Parts: sequence; structure tokens; C-alpha cells
Amino acid sequence: MERLSPDTIIGIDLGTTNSCGAVAHGDGQVKLIPYKGGEYTIPSIFAIDDKGNELIGHEAKRQWQLNPRNTLYATKRLIGRAPRDEVVDTMQQSVQYRLHAGDRNDVEVDCHGRSFSIQEIASRILAKIRDVASDHLGFKVQRAVVTVPAYFTDRQRQAVKEAGALVGLEVVRIINEPTAAALAYGIGKRLDERVLVYDLGGGTFDVSIIEIRDRVFEVKATGGDIFLGGIDFDDAMIRFVLDDFRNKHGIDLSSDPVAMQRIKDLAERTKIDLSARTEAPFSIPFITMTPQGQPLNMDVRFDRKLLEALTQHLVDRSLKIMGGVMVDAGITAKDIDEVMLVGGQTRMPIIQERLTRFFGKPPSKGVHPDEAVGIGAALYGWSLQESSDLKLQLLDVIPMSIGIEQAGGAMHVVFPRNAAIPNARTIAATNAVDRQSELAMRIYQGDQPWSADNELLGEFTFSGVRPGRAGEVRLEILFEVNVEGILTMSARDLDTGRQMKTTVRISTR
Ligand code: ADP
Ligand code: MG
Repeated sequence: MERLSPDTIIGIDLGTTNSCGAVAHGDGQVKLIPYKGGEYTIPSIFAIDDKGNELIGHEAKRQWQLNPRNTLYATKRLIGRAPRDEVVDTMQQSVQYRLHAGDRNDVEVDCHGRSFSIQEIASRILAKIRDVASDHLGFKVQRAVVTVPAYFTDRQRQAVKEAGALVGLEVVRIINEPTAAALAYGIGKRLDERVLVYDLGGGTFDVSIIEIRDRVFEVKATGGDIFLGGIDFDDAMIRFVLDDFRNKHGIDLSSDPVAMQRIKDLAERTKIDLSARTEAPFSIPFITMTPQGQPLNMDVRFDRKLLEALTQHLVDRSLKIMGGVMVDAGITAKDIDEVMLVGGQTRMPIIQERLTRFFGKPPSKGVHPDEAVGIGAALYGWSLQESSDLKLQLLDVIPMSIGIEQAGGAMHVVFPRNAAIPNARTIAATNAVDRQSELAMRIYQGDQPWSADNELLGEFTFSGVRPGRAGEVRLEILFEVNVEGILTMSARDLDTGRQMKTTVRISTR
């Protein structure tokens, strides 16, 4: 085995629920990074205990029932999001820690009397993986390929890069999680196949259709919902047991953080049990007291059928999104050679059954649902290193349209969804009034016809426009989306060739 050099690029799957690191060498051998206790994934949880110690991963998860307000989990759902987003309200209702608006049109979280940006929390988890990898490999790891949901916007991708920078980890490339899973599946097999990756994790759902021709991986279409995942299955169970308890005892437990954390914990464990068995009790002793001081237990009989009924709308939603992506790719079920399951929630039997029925064949067992993404990231990281003899070609797409706001508020699409990346487009612009010195435009990402219903990526201002009468100055605006799905813009004067100065503002307040 050749020695790994210090310019090694590791792969990191920064998941909503679990994260994983791996490193590759040779012509595609991969080692997963083990944590204390031998596991290959760590919970994406950050906490601060009463003594002020920061805990990450298993240590943080171990104490979360006792310290629910200062245990931050699933924060990836909030990365790169505006505080106004309804997503943030929904999230506040289901977590025991506090969220508030930050001053960069983003969300911050409270922990032990301190306020953190979501990037800071992500950076702690990245640093933990980097440090464990460094110990394991015997040198300090400085570079990584980090995966993100395919359905992440430009802003969310930039936030992940920033998270790396905060702890001195160079994120050399962002790649999409389903694409990474396809790499883990396809490298070294000399395939000529069209695969569909169905990735249902803890927080997000992604689906990608990818053509694999030996070492070329070409994404044909992608789609998803960054608010559909295992947590929503847990929440459906939690709502059910809370209602049941209220009906039986007239007590609402939803405002008791410790009780809620115990319920949340058991909901997830019961859900997981019900993937292997058809029945499981849902019992929590002494969950609360009556006003008379009598202790009360929670006791519900749960079975697989009930879980399936409570979560059917979620599975339906994922299949509907999948159908839309197939339409975008212009294919039908029989055109798919393999269906790959990624993400812990795909272990739920009904999901496998419904996909089997839909495609007329069972999903592939070719990848490990928890490890494929980290493995693919490591393979890609290795392929980017000079000393590597693994050559790969990844051709990915943007998940939703990118465009500018027109007068009146409609969205003018510059790149349609599923446009190949990297990509560049130009549009013509001119000065609207005499002697205008600046040109500003708002850039949005999303597939809704009105800009305001899409995600604002930023307000770009081009300054130094040549003085002239209205309509006289001819400008060309260049939009470039790089291989990571990240947008940059520039503008030049078509007559003088001079570049304008570009500034970007994310905040709109
Ligand atoms: P992420 O990529 O978002 O970090 P994972 O792929 O690790 O997430 O999936 C985590 C989700 O999978 C959690 O919601 C967890 O409850 C769920 N999960 C894990 N194992 C099972 C199982 N056997 N049956 C059903 N759900 C499971
Ligand atoms: Mg995942």
C-alpha cells in the first residue's frame, strides 16, 4: 500500500443526522475512518454541558435527553436559509433548542447562553471528522471533498464551504450526495448503466438519475425536498402519541422539553425497531405527574401498520418527486437499470416495497446506505490528487433554476433546472436612465414563476457604468455556475470591454 501523503483529500459526508469520513488510495480502495468504539458514522450533534464543555457526536448524543435545550441536532436543515423562511418556524416547533434571526439574513441557534451561526455548528462537526481522520492517518488532514444534498441552493453550498474555512479545512470540492453514492457503486465495475439514486436520510430527500459509463458519471436530472426525511417520520409518530396522551390524561406534554426529548428519542428507536419487527411497545415510565402529584406513564401499542399509515403522505411525496425527476429526464421505469437506496430511512420496508412495485424489480444491494456517500466523496477526493491514478469525470446539474427578477417581479430564468454544470450564460443589459452609474439585480434560485417565491441568492451591484444617455451603454452580464453549483457574476461594457466592479449583498434588510 502506498503511503498517504499530507496533501491527502479526505471525503466527508456531512449529514443532517449522521456524518462519516473516508479516505481512498490506489485505484479506488477506500478506508472509512473509525471513531472511538469502532463505528464509522458519528451523530451530527453538538452540545454544551453544564460545565461549559463542548461535545460533538456520540458524546453529545449520549446526554441529549438530560440537556435538550443545549443539544443541537439536525441544524443542517437551517444552513443557508433566511430567518423568515417558514421552514424555520416549523423547525422551531419540533426542536427543544432556540432559534433566532442572525444579522446576515440567516438563522442562529442558542446553546448554553451563547449564539452560534449554523456554519459554526457545521464547522465543529467537520473539525471533529478532520481530527479523528488526522489521528487515524498520522498527519494533519487539511483538505476535503464535502457532500451536500443535490437539492441544495447556491447559498447553502457556499455556507458549507464557509463552515470548512472557519476551522481551516479547505473544502476543495462540494459534490452532490446522490452523485457520490453513484461513484461508490460504480467505480471499478466498467458499467454502462442508468441508475436512479433514492436518498432518504434524516433531514433531506434527494433523487438523481445518473448514467454511468465506466468512469464517466453523468447526472441527467435531479430533484428533492430539503424538508423531507426521517425526522418527519419521527414527528408524525410524536404527534400521534402526544394526541393519544392528551386524550387519555388531558395533559399536553409538548411544552415539557425533557418529556419531549424522551418521546423523540423513543419515537426514533421504535421507528427503527419497526423496520425489523411488526410490533413494538411505546412505553415511557413516569413521563409526567398529574396535578395531584400522581406519576403517569406513557403506554401506546405501536405496530408497523400504524407507522405506515401515519407516514404514508411522506412516502407518497417522495415518490411524486421521483416521478417528476423521471419526467425531467425523459425516461420511464423500464429505462432504469438499477435503483440504489441511500440514507437510513430507506431501511423502512414499505419504502422498499413501493419502489419494487414501481420499478418491477427490487432495489440494488450494491451500496451501503450509510456509507456510500462518504465513500464516494473519498474516491472523488482521491481522484483530484496529483499522485492519483484514478481518473473520473463527473457531469452534474443544478437542481433548480437560477434567474433574475424582472420589473414587476417575475423570474427571468437564466439557467433552467437540470442545466449541466459548469455552465456560463450571458444576458444583455443597458442603463435605464441617463448617467446611471450602477446597475443592480436580484438573483433568485427556484422553480416558481414569481421571484419572491424563490430563494434570494443575493443582490448583485455592478458599479462604474460609463456615463451615457438611457439605453446607450451596452452591458453584458456573465453568469457562471461552477462545477460545485456555485454562482459568480460579472459585467462588462461591450463597447469599451471594461469590467464593472461587482459587489454582492445577501442581506435584504
Ligand atoms: P443523514 O444523511 O440525513 O445524516 P442518515 O442517512 O444517517 O441521515 O439517516 C438517518 C435517518 O434514518 C434517521 O431519521 C433514522 O431514524 C433513520 N433510520 C436509521 N435506521 C433506520 C431503520 N432501520 N429503519 C427506519 N429508519 C431508520
Ligand atoms: Mg445522507
